Amino acid sequence: MEYIDNSFEAVIGLEVHTQLLTATKMFCSCPNVFGKEPNSLVCPVCLALPGSLPVINFNAVKLAVKAALAINLNINKKSLFARKNYFYPDLPKGYQISQFQDPVSSNGYLIINIGEGKEKKIRINRLHIEEDAGKLIHAGYNSFVDLNRAGTPLAEIVSEPDLNSPAEAVAYLKELRDILVYLDISDGNMEEGSFRCDANISVRKKGDAKLGTRTEVKNVNSFKFVEKALEYEINRQIELLLNGGKVIQETLLFNSKTGKTESMRGKEEAHDYRYFEEPDLSPLILGEEFIAEIKNSITELPRAKRERYIREYALSEYDSEELTRNKEIAYYFEDLIKANKDRVEIKKIANWVINDLLFELKTVRLDQELGLDQRTTLDQSADNFEIKHGGMIPVKIEDFLELILEVEAGNINKNTGKKVLDEMLSTGKKAGDIIKEKNLIQVSDEKGLEDTIKQVFEENPNELEALIDGKDKLFGFFVGEAMKKTKGKANPKKVNEILNKHIENYKSGIRINQEQGQS
Ligand code: ADP
Ligand code: MG
Ligand code: ZN
Repeated sequence: MEYIDNSFEAVIGLEVHTQLLTATKMFCSCPNVFGKEPNSLVCPVCLALPGSLPVINFNAVKLAVKAALAINLNINKKSLFARKNYFYPDLPKGYQISQFQDPVSSNGYLIINIGEGKEKKIRINRLHIEEDAGKLIHAGYNSFVDLNRAGTPLAEIVSEPDLNSPAEAVAYLKELRDILVYLDISDGNMEEGSFRCDANISVRKKGDAKLGTRTEVKNVNSFKFVEKALEYEINRQIELLLNGGKVIQETLLFNSKTGKTESMRGKEEAHDYRYFEEPDLSPLILGEEFIAEIKNSITELPRAKRERYIREYALSEYDSEELTRNKEIAYYFEDLIKANKDRVEIKKIANWVINDLLFELKTVRLDQELGLDQRTTLDQSADNFEIKHGGMIPVKIEDFLELILEVEAGNINKNTGKKVLDEMLSTGKKAGDIIKEKNLIQVSDEKGLEDTIKQVFEENPNELEALIDGKDKLFGFFVGEAMKKTKGKANPKKVNEILNKHIENYKSGIRINQEQGQS
């Protein structure tokens, strides 16, 4: 990463808040769901009515411990809840129940990829349990309070300042989110705020041991914005220092319209929050057995999957990454491999999933969800599109495999195969039926293709002459014309062979004629 002065380096530590996928809130039995009518999911506990008492959500503790174990944290058998006191209209109690001195877990790490096949270990200070605040909705001169979110279970994951560039920060967030989504701990949805991040940033001269003064950018809600906000903030701090100024420790907001960070408030210190132990909750005591049971429930994580795909399936790093980015895709792919029973090369199946299935799913879904009338390409959509897990792949394993086998058997060509897949996705029909119905069987018979090609030659005499004269680029034109004549059904390999044979014949025929003419 290039900064305005590369004798500086960036130091970044991230505080990630992730909502836990529980049925109910952290300390009451209100449903934990997004997008309902404001203030419809509230009760005396989350409204902080006098006399109401919190009760710890057992499932939230389970999910938090699961997350902690997945990122290599030590589970503390005894942890405490604490009150973090501050005033804000979305916080009815006037304090947030969190954990401070004795969090549920501490001292872990996450391995991230930092490009060129290199890995980096990022230490994690702690993961603790807390509750979310409500939400303010601003409209003109009015502000409204929605307390549906108040009391939603959160895990806060605090990294050590081991990240040294915006790209590393994004890699860390992606790795972390992948894990949480894989394990059904979080839905990872940044737009809905169920996975959010505060970024702490400082800069220092390369080689300096001492950390610089940091600023904290609050609640950045997409990977792209994290990268932009960090980039801007790093350069702002370097410039400030170069001009003899000093970085002030403060809390900033990222303005996505201007691409700049803006001062929000001076940084509060821990003592400003007057933390003290939550008197309404007893300490959280976790048994060995409970922890072991959760540990055993952790399935293969994306990084391990990627490595196994490379090792066992001989796939490239790129392919493995594409296939494991989404849990549903990964399991779908693995089921395909099982059902395939070595009939088709694994690499080919991987290509079908990555280049065709994923592509179709992304474009089709974008069309439907965003009402786009034109197909958006994968490149354009990759940033703001993620296939959510939970039954998004509408093609059964055996149906998709049938399609692949039809192509492998040469019954249809690959291009037709793509069209059939498109049709399968939109109608739910099976490959075999679509092929029959639309009469898509590949034309491979020599005689028929010979006739087609002769016809094409006759219709394009000038192009044919030019091709014989050595304008080799026109070869593709004739392939295309032959495909058109067969409505895309011709076996492209056969078309190539026949064309080649004729052109060679023409060429040598002409040479013979010329030689004859000269003699
Ligand atoms: P607080 O809770 O007050 O924000 P913490 O000490 O818990 O403060 O640190 C919060 C985050 O800030 C952590 O992720 C930590 O790695 C990061 N951090 C601390 N000091 C620096 C620094 N000088 N530069 C960059 N990040 C830092
Ligand atoms: Mg902080
Ligand atoms: Zn409630």
